[in-house]
Amino acid sequence: METKIVTIDKLDSPESVEEKLACAGGIIRQGGLVAFPTETVYGLGGDALNPESARKIYAAKGRPSDNPLIIHIADMAHLNQVVCEIPEKAQKLAYAFWPGPLTMIFKKAAIVPYQTTGGLDTVAVRMPSHPLASLFIKKAGGYVAAPSANLSGKPSPTNARYVVQDMDGRIDMIIDAEGVEIGLESTIVDMTSEVPVILRPGYITQQMLSGVVGETDMDVTIYDSSSALAPKAPGMKYRHYAPRGELVIVEGDPQKVVKYINEQAALHEADGKRTGIIGTQETLSEYRASSIKNAGSRSDFRVAARQLYTFLREFDDEDIAYIYAESFADKGLGQAVMNRLLKAAGHKVVQV
Ligand code: AMP
Ligand code: MG
Repeated sequence: METKIVTIDKLDSPESVEEKLACAGGIIRQGGLVAFPTETVYGLGGDALNPESARKIYAAKGRPSDNPLIIHIADMAHLNQVVCEIPEKAQKLAYAFWPGPLTMIFKKAAIVPYQTTGGLDTVAVRMPSHPLASLFIKKAGGYVAAPSANLSGKPSPTNARYVVQDMDGRIDMIIDAEGVEIGLESTIVDMTSEVPVILRPGYITQQMLSGVVGETDMDVTIYDSSSALAPKAPGMKYRHYAPRGELVIVEGDPQKVVKYINEQAALHEADGKRTGIIGTQETLSEYRASSIKNAGSRSDFRVAARQLYTFLREFDDEDIAYIYAESFADKGLGQAVMNRLLKAAGHKVVQV
């Protein structure tokens, strides 16, 4: 299959943007697949109401078909069509955080095929805030099922170059545009129980959610990797975001962390193995290795969130065999960063 790559930039007139997205939307209506930017990561879109489109998404990603897809909408009125009921707390959260990086789980309506929900009676819905995503969804008919646009297991793509790397030849079109600002996938909250349960941490933190609806719970498997329970979001059980190199997270007193990482890096480098480090503003100048990435200040995790997947992909491009990452505070946005980092590392953590 030839994949058409369509670039949209500031030089495009509104008419040109409209025309390009109408073409992309037409592909979705006809059962094809289009990768598109959102404010979180790039999505791999297909018609959410067409079982055949869901099948194609799983095939393109190499994703297990029990891992349900998120339905993206662009119009609040469309939520009613794909869910059975909208609990009051969900209305409040939608009002507070949509459009934006929040996905909510509802009981599904009959028109949503089981192929889209991975066989579940519930459905995940999000309304993205990226203006191009929004217009694209409208042109596509209003309901776009979209997981992240990476091959299963690889880091989610935060720029079109990585979408092309994974999806060229496997889908109909890739829309290349700016505006992927957050860099981590949406927060997922299950609204089917009285107390909403966070299934995947993200940019919308537990504190922000509780500020709107009061008590919220967190799926135990998010913070307890030794839990014998299966995660409630089926996708959370799979190995994710893994770079080719071996990734280890190092926790402890910052000076000890720097010393340990530098010692390990020196050993590997002496052995001819290129080593990468994910450090922070506060420690960066002290590191010595082939590739050193700056995850921003420890007082603001937005840079770490935005850059994490890019770093992991760059380490692959740079042929890095060993990677050491500082750990991030397990609260607020740091919790989302840490959750993805732990998955990428297969939960390998060293305490120093
Ligand atoms: P991705 O599209 O790559 O961001 O992955 C979607 C995530 O949403 C996966 O972790 C899925 O398991 C999760 N998800 C989607 N639908 C549901 C649902 N109905 N119930 C629980 N988790 C869901
Ligand atoms: Mg994904």
